[in-house]
Amino acid sequence: MDFTFSPEDEAFREEVRAFVREEWDPRDYNTDLNVFSYDFDNPEYRAHADAFQKKLVEKGYWTMSWPKEFGGGGASLTKQVVYADELAYAGAPAGSPGANITGAIMYHADDAIKTEFLGKMAKNEIDWAQGFSEPNAGTDLASLSTRAVEDGDDFVVTGQKIWSSGSHYANWYHVLTRTDPSAPKHRGITYLIMQLKNDEGEQMPGITLRPLYDMFGRRRWNEVFMDEVRVPKRQIIGEVNRGWYAAMTTLNFERAGGTGARNIAVLDQFLAMARKLKFHGKSVLDDPIARHKLADLRVRVEVGRALSLRLIWLQSKGEVPQTESLIANFYGSVMAKFHLWPTLAEIMGPYRTLLQGEKRSPDNGMYGTNYALSMVTGYAGGGGILLSPGLIAQRGLGLPR
Ligand SMILES: Cc1cc2nc3c(=O)[nH]c(=O)nc-3n(C[C@H](O)[C@H](O)[C@H](O)COP(=O)(O)OP(=O)(O)OC[C@H]3O[C@@H](n4cnc5c(N)ncnc54)[C@H](O)[C@@H]3O)c2cc1C
Repeated sequence: MDFTFSPEDEAFREEVRAFVREEWDPRDYNTDLNVFSYDFDNPEYRAHADAFQKKLVEKGYWTMSWPKEFGGGGASLTKQVVYADELAYAGAPAGSPGANITGAIMYHADDAIKTEFLGKMAKNEIDWAQGFSEPNAGTDLASLSTRAVEDGDDFVVTGQKIWSSGSHYANWYHVLTRTDPSAPKHRGITYLIMQLKNDEGEQMPGITLRPLYDMFGRRRWNEVFMDEVRVPKRQIIGEVNRGWYAAMTTLNFERAGGTGARNIAVLDQFLAMARKLKFHGKSVLDDPIARHKLADLRVRVEVGRALSLRLIWLQSKGEVPQTESLIANFYGSVMAKFHLWPTLAEIMGPYRTLLQGEKRSPDNGMYGTNYALSMVTGYAGGGGILLSPGLIAQRGLGLPR
């Protein structure tokens, strides 16, 4: 495989890098380097990130990865990777409509929904939340029981979702509902989009949110209760009782990862910090054991990047590398959870217990926070760590179930 990017892609990299340097001020939000520690519930951070994303819209970067037929820029895959990497390395907020539902709308919704919703998403006017998981339907998502009953021009939805990330900020919600309880479980599911807040920012009738906090006390998710919420029938993605198949497009979108540029940035930032920070008058980098561990980590991070590049290279040749995608995803989860954050935390010793905002906290608590929160890696998005090895064995190696 060819690891080099074309001169055109490299020129584009310089363009994006200069733009990000000019327009993104990381301030003290360097904890944004990892998704699990960013200031999710900090209104100042959100306003700062929104202002940057507005500039991405104006510049034409925001939907450059969307196919032209959907009003996007139709950028090549390698250009998309260069763009994502530069933003990730700088610790900037997401550079394109992050909602996992994008693919499902493009390939399963009718033209009116496509025009309305993709149009708003292109201007960053929709803040989506995802309502898939339920108290009794997580890894086994198809067991979901939120009911949707047809009534005239509407579906009437009643039930409970859980772990809906950021739903207290969202104005729209994409939800899986059960429309035929007598059908086999994958076949009685309908995929709907519903409004969570009206244009005045008030919660829609029948919707109640109950906050869920992460271990640092930040409101990150909500339980979402729906009590006879009326959803116009036109707001369907795919067909009645066939929502599972449209939802799989959503999950496939969710699982398509970057190339690990954030991990490289984390490691570079750690090294810069460690050069300056003295433990008992010495830098940790003077310790041969720490140096060995960091060298090992660098190799692991680079292997992750190589796996992602291989995936992209195969895709750029028109292949659909499912197994390679699972491998890269699995490796990324294991790397973050069992190597990157534990190694950095271990090397930091007691400093890792200092968190964001605390005196003497290196890099504003980034390492300790991420170490603690990296425990959830592999659960979000449907249990990657649990499922990937089995899928790799079956699909990649052809082993029996
Ligand atoms: C940071 C984060 C953000 C999230 N955001 C969202 C969101 O926006 N919207 C949304 O809908 N959901 C969201 N989720 C929920 C996520 O999709 C679920 O956590 C995930 O699907 C796992 O489900 P569960 O938590 O119910 O765990 P369970 O399915 O109850 O699993 C619990 C444990 O049992 C094990 N287990 C489960 N099944 C089996 C099996 N068959 N064999 C062996 N072991 C098994 C698992 O490995 C795990 O250790 C989020 C989760 C996280 C961590």
